Amino acid sequence: MGLARADAVCECSGVRKYVIMGIQGSGKGTQGGLLARDFDLTPIAVGDIFRWHVQNHTKIGAHVRRVMAAGELVGDDLVESVVRQRLDQHDWNYGFIVDGFPRNHRQAEFFLESYDIDGVIHLDLPDEEVRRRVLARRLCSRCGMDYNLIAHRPDVEDCCDVCGGALVSREDDTEQALSARLHDYHTKTNPVLELFRRKEFVVSVDARPDPASVQETIRARLRLSSEEPGLIPRG
Ligand SMILES: [Zn+2]
Repeated sequence: MGLARADAVCECSGVRKYVIMGIQGSGKGTQGGLLARDFDLTPIAVGDIFRWHVQNHTKIGAHVRRVMAAGELVGDDLVESVVRQRLDQHDWNYGFIVDGFPRNHRQAEFFLESYDIDGVIHLDLPDEEVRRRVLARRLCSRCGMDYNLIAHRPDVEDCCDVCGGALVSREDDTEQALSARLHDYHTKTNPVLELFRRKEFVVSVDARPDPASVQETIRARLRLSSEEPGLIPRG
């Protein structure tokens, strides 16, 4: 590409601070991960922090397990304290990308007052597509490997390619639990998105195309230079 450094804007700002929003199944983890990798952003994913607690059998972990088994979301206050603690570590020299926060209007206002956000990436996925993607997820009951009956099928049905263990659905991936989460997501997220939109921070991206295309759109919309190293090859 002949676009010599027209994107000097990106370089003078130095630190990039993003929020990524999207329902589960929208590819938020993948998209946020690619941005983090190529632009040295520190990924701050609420889900990962809580997963760590579950795996390490902490008190927070036990609480999270119970809440998720009931198909509910972890309380806003706990999410907020976990994110605050993480940001307070200030180990994000080149910036961060926050996933799973803010959850409500009040948290969004606090966040905007405390940090100069450069952009809010909103991965837009219709509920029907969320259902299709989420209900196709499987997990190896032995080694924990993730599968997806749409995108990543096992060679042998219901059987892990790596260890031969039985594939199961996550306990919170039932139709009923998902409906509750969709409802909860929209009622909580819409006010946050509206607040961010009023500040003109939101970049809404259609999350239906393949991951490489979605990533490319995000970078174009955020004016992130594609000249930087490590760009994913187009699939
Ligand atoms: Zn396995």
